[in-house]
Amino acid sequence: MARILVTNDDGVSAEGLLRLQEVLADIDGTEVIVVAPDREQSATSHSLTLHRPLRLKEVSAGRYSVDGTPTDCVSLAVFWLMKGSPPDLIVSGINSGLNLGDDVTYSGTVSATFEGALLGIPSVAFSQDISAEFSFERAAGFARLLVRSLLAHPLPEGLLLNVNLPAGQLGPVRLTRLGSRVYRQSVIEKTDPRGRRYFWIAGTPEWRHEEGTDHAAVAAGEISVTPLHLDLTDYERLNDPSGLNRWLLALEPEPSER
Ligand code: MN
Repeated sequence: MARILVTNDDGVSAEGLLRLQEVLADIDGTEVIVVAPDREQSATSHSLTLHRPLRLKEVSAGRYSVDGTPTDCVSLAVFWLMKGSPPDLIVSGINSGLNLGDDVTYSGTVSATFEGALLGIPSVAFSQDISAEFSFERAAGFARLLVRSLLAHPLPEGLLLNVNLPAGQLGPVRLTRLGSRVYRQSVIEKTDPRGRRYFWIAGTPEWRHEEGTDHAAVAAGEISVTPLHLDLTDYERLNDPSGLNRWLLALEPEPSER
C-alpha cells in the first residue's frame, strides 16, 4: 500500500486540493492522507513555525488542518500522524496560480516539496494557470497520471518536480528550466482611515521570453515539468580560479577577527 501525503498552501478547503485528493485516492493500492493549512498560506515560502504551539484538527476522515505553514503540515504529518510509516510520496497543490521561475522561492506549494526532499521523501508540486478556461479537473487528471508513474518509478533522492499546467487544453509534457522575471515588484503607498500610511506589495509578473523555460512551455500551452534540487551552490563559480577564489581566498582575517 503506497501512502501519499497531500498538502498545499491555499488551505484545506481549496478546490485544487480537493480534486487532487479525489483522484489520488482513486488509484488502486494507495492511501491518501491530507494535511493542509487551515487558511491561505500562499507566499509563506519554506517557513517553519517555532515560536508558538500548532493545532492539528481532523476535518473529516483522513483530512487534517494545521494552523501553520505548508512546511509545518509536512512536519506534523511525517513526524507525528504518519510516524512509523512515513509517506512514499508528497504531493502539493493543485495551487491556484502558476509557480514559475523565480517565484518558486516564495511559493508555499513548492516549499512543501522542499521539505519532502530534505526528509528524503519523493515530492511533486502542481500549480495551475487560473486564467480563462482553466480546469482543476483536467489538471487533476494529469496529476493522477504522473503520480501513478512516480509510484512505479520513484524519484532519486533529493530530486523534486515542479509541475505547472496551462489554462486551456493540455499540450505535451515539456522538461524545463526555471525562467526569470523582468518586473520589479512595486510598493503602493496609501493612507488608512486614521490618517496613517500603509503599504501594499504589488506588481504583475512579466517573464523574459526564453526558450526552454517553464514560462515558455506554459505560454505555449504545454505542461511544464521542472526538476529541482535544494543545493543552491554555484559550482561554476566555486571552481573558477579567475573568479571569486582569486581575491576571496587572499583575504587574511585579522587575529582579533578570528
Ligand atoms: Mn497558493
